[in-house]
Amino acid sequence: MTTRAPALFLGHGSPMNAIEDTHSARGWSEIARAFPKPNAIVCISAHWVTEGVKVTSNAHPRTIHDFGRGFPQALFDVQYPAPGDPDLARAIVEKLTAYGAQLDDTWGLDHGAWSVVKHMYPDADVPIIQVSLDIRRPSSEHHAIAQKLAELRDDNILILGSGNIVHNLPAFFRAPSPDPQPWVATYDALIVDGVANDQSKVVNYTAQPEADVAAPDWEHFTPIIYALGARRDGEQPYVFNRHYFPGISMTSIAFGLPQ
Ligand code: ZN
Repeated sequence: MTTRAPALFLGHGSPMNAIEDTHSARGWSEIARAFPKPNAIVCISAHWVTEGVKVTSNAHPRTIHDFGRGFPQALFDVQYPAPGDPDLARAIVEKLTAYGAQLDDTWGLDHGAWSVVKHMYPDADVPIIQVSLDIRRPSSEHHAIAQKLAELRDDNILILGSGNIVHNLPAFFRAPSPDPQPWVATYDALIVDGVANDQSKVVNYTAQPEADVAAPDWEHFTPIIYALGARRDGEQPYVFNRHYFPGISMTSIAFGLPQ
């Protein structure tokens, strides 16, 4: 018997969480201590969007600093030298043959991955690969891909979606006050309720009230569809990091934590 790793969704927010001691970063660190160290991590990040499904195949993925120049040098200096796992990448490509998945050696770890995993495993001692978000697919197919990835959990491989349930950057930057707009909490609660009680609300998130302001960025929302698709029967969600900013919710959800 091997350990079954959880499926996780982490709301990542600002890249600055990577180097600051924030509430959210502490939540990521704590959740990693709530289950045994996985054999590997398969990360679906909002920040890797491609045509077709790609799987990182590098043995030593580079740390990608994919954010604007306005951030401090300390953030550009971060390196997260976790190894890749080329065998696992090949196994995933095979598992996702029906979706035309291909190996990719051009990408590495983007900040959607390393800014959160750095807090979970600061020693960078867990191999990590990324699976891209295929821009051509509807939510239902992302959900179906995640259901295939769910099998990996039985080999103690962590499925990690990294995005934000509520993600509206203009509403963040142009907010008149530090208080989140009412729709941040309303939409976040609607999706959390959907995760617990009605998955179709999550998969059909664009049809929900206020989706146009709360979830205009499909690539930040879709990673939660991966965590949801990787959930196994009977697993109850554990919801944490319910911190709100204007235009952003940091809400994070775990499935399959040890009892
Ligand atoms: Zn992001």
